[in-house]
Amino acid sequence: MKVPDNKISSVKSYFFESLKSFSLDEVNNYFSFLCDAWLDLSKADLLLNPDVEISESELLKFLYAIKDLKKNRPIQYIAGKTWFYGIEVYVKEGVLIPRPETEELVQWVISDCKYEKQILDIGTGSGCIPLAIKNSLRDIHLTGYDVSKDAIEIARKNAGLLNLEVNFNEFDILNWRLFPQENKFDTIVSNPPYIPEFDKKIMHKNVLNYEPKLALFVPDNDPLVFYKAIADFSLINLNEQGKLYLEIHESYGREVVQMLTQVGYGNIELRKDLQGKDRMIKASLI
Ligand code: SAM
Ligand code: GLN
Repeated sequence: MKVPDNKISSVKSYFFESLKSFSLDEVNNYFSFLCDAWLDLSKADLLLNPDVEISESELLKFLYAIKDLKKNRPIQYIAGKTWFYGIEVYVKEGVLIPRPETEELVQWVISDCKYEKQILDIGTGSGCIPLAIKNSLRDIHLTGYDVSKDAIEIARKNAGLLNLEVNFNEFDILNWRLFPQENKFDTIVSNPPYIPEFDKKIMHKNVLNYEPKLALFVPDNDPLVFYKAIADFSLINLNEQGKLYLEIHESYGREVVQMLTQVGYGNIELRKDLQGKDRMIKASLI
């Protein structure tokens, strides 16, 4: 089958025909995602205007997308963007694709904010967390750290595209003592790598083959390595009554709470995500 013309309805038929190995729901989602990302066409627009013509280069992008989807490339990398807490975030291989459960962590931070002036995000990736916070709370000063040069480049690009002022710097939390801090923070937030290597065997190919390992995995014999470093760093770099917000692996809630208690944090709260899985922790300096 060939695409007979450049009408969006014809492209849609070809797209569905070519991706028969996926479920109808999946293909529907992929097609809507790309139409939204590339053509700014919603599902309703597509139904109302089936005869809209797309350009030759847009058509080519859909044809390449079909090839990439067959190779399990994530739709967000294909589209070159995703949506996170009301902002559009540019993504490509080299940064983690922001997840919906991380929006819940952002919601928690924002709803608690009263007098905070300085917020730091550790392991910022695309910059989605501080950019989403800045977009809601314009008066707060936000900083994002990541060890990955690629991530910092992409995060800075996102700040530019969104016209939001956030400072992004290269920083290795596992060697935090080598990086002297100028400011103290009222809130520190982090979604660090937390998947033990042994979880690899149950992970989807689209994550495993395309997303950065540096963003995902921790050694089986030390799964809390990032939480311990963040807890020690924050003890020194949080202001009095400062707060720490962490996204966690669903199986390690109790261990992270226990470690934070030992290090000296108080008012520790463990929350579940919308899927009912232990997913985030808040702790305070007491
Ligand atoms: N905050 C982003 C989000 O929620 O989509 C990305 C989170 S991703 C799970 C973890 C991030 O931590 C990655 O961007 C990775 O590059 C970064 N990272 C890994 N090791 C690090 C280190 N030693 N110091 C600082 N950041 C690190
Ligand atoms: N929640 C992400 C996933 O399941 C992992 C994020 C992380 O390691 N912090 O792929």
